[in-house]
Amino acid sequence: MTTISIREVGPRDGLQNEAPVPAAAKVELIDALSATGVRRIEAVSFVHPKAIPQMADADEVWAKIARDPDVRYSALVPNVRGAERALAAGFTEVEVVVSASDTHNRKNINRSTEESLAELPALIELLHAGGASAELIIATSFGCPYEGDVDPGRVAGIVERAIGMGVDKVSFGDTTGMATPRRVRDVLTRVARERPLLCHFHNTRGTGLANILTALELGVTQFDASVGGLGGCPYAPGATGNVATEEVVHMLADMGYETGIDLDRLVEAAELAQRIVGRELPSGVLRAGPRYRTIA
Ligand code: MG
Repeated sequence: MTTISIREVGPRDGLQNEAPVPAAAKVELIDALSATGVRRIEAVSFVHPKAIPQMADADEVWAKIARDPDVRYSALVPNVRGAERALAAGFTEVEVVVSASDTHNRKNINRSTEESLAELPALIELLHAGGASAELIIATSFGCPYEGDVDPGRVAGIVERAIGMGVDKVSFGDTTGMATPRRVRDVLTRVARERPLLCHFHNTRGTGLANILTALELGVTQFDASVGGLGGCPYAPGATGNVATEEVVHMLADMGYETGIDLDRLVEAAELAQRIVGRELPSGVLRAGPRYRTIA
């Protein structure tokens, strides 16, 4: 049986794209997720509170969760300052984001892609010296909301350079849900495989699960997903964002893949996420229940 590693990103990527919620609710959600059997959770990001007020309480949330020894928790950082905060908080897995498209990178962190890549070696060195692994997330890997199509060769070039800089893992972000199976194939067949590859798909245009299947066929075994499909799309109000974890687990489990996640508990966590944000979340498995729940 093939094991697929799911990283739950709802508490960070999900809640960062929702209206702010109290720290206590975040703690409750992370603890509920830790109890589902998921082995990796992206818990917080260390960003400037003025830039992203939703994550201003990262230290408090991290201090208050019940840390499950079977779960690896990670943090996302935009720069050296964020990396220092993540290390000070005791994180041993840290993610750094660079966008494949210049315009998105400028809108996100006010630098060109090249300028961000120039800062990457120092960031990786800092994280390694502090005992943490460094994962590079390449945002807009499959398309950019400002520039349109992104050349897979450009993405492959970034991967090559990042590996040369000593990055431990590379993740491909479909930031605004522009990927299709064809584009997933275009990128994944071009990039170097010297480090573990992860995929982070959005379901903005309904292709999330199809993209995961395509990546699976190409040997990727690590995926990000967000409980309930938490986290809208910041560029398209009302649109769906991250693929829903329970939809991914539901499909993979029935196909014979092992994720370690208890689907019923995960659906309960999705119900909690829905109560926390106070809006109906887009997950079909949350609405309809798993396929094995027959009518009494
Ligand atoms: Mg996302």
